[in-house]
Amino acid sequence: MPVITCPSCQTELPDNAAFCLSCGHAIEQETELKAPNEIDREWLMNVFVSDGYKCEETDESPLLFWARHEERMNASVRLYPALGLFSMASTWALKRSRRDEARVQGAVNTYNSSSLLWTAWIFQDQTTLGMSAIYTFSARTSPQRIKAYLDISNKVFFESLTDTGLIQILQ
Ligand SMILES: [Zn+2]
Repeated sequence: MPVITCPSCQTELPDNAAFCLSCGHAIEQETELKAPNEIDREWLMNVFVSDGYKCEETDESPLLFWARHEERMNASVRLYPALGLFSMASTWALKRSRRDEARVQGAVNTYNSSSLLWTAWIFQDQTTLGMSAIYTFSARTSPQRIKAYLDISNKVFFESLTDTGLIQILQ
């Protein structure tokens, strides 16, 4: 019998399971899965919108859009179809009142060491922080996987760095 593996707890399940029999995790349905070359800006924007973002297309590029969220980082999202990935870039203001180069650099270094796919840097003016993240499409990806990535990115980007009290979102 063909089996699939629960993405949450790795239990083997029949390939028609809608939910994991062990942990209850919702299993992606075949119709939701997309190959990298089937993903375009409209599809990706819809995934972000269904996750609570307000998205706005830009005329600058058919592969770029803005994603804003009331409780998360705001980002410019760029799709790279040939590379099978999208990137998110975000800019933050360092709080003047809490500005402390060593502390900020320490937070950025901790952040950079947590994953190769996330990077942060301080601009030369020392008042602005830039961050970027990359999501690589696997052979088949789904809204559920992208949402899980956005959730993790938000925790890394937003919660860990805003918890330092050193940054705020640039309006
Ligand atoms: Zn499970």
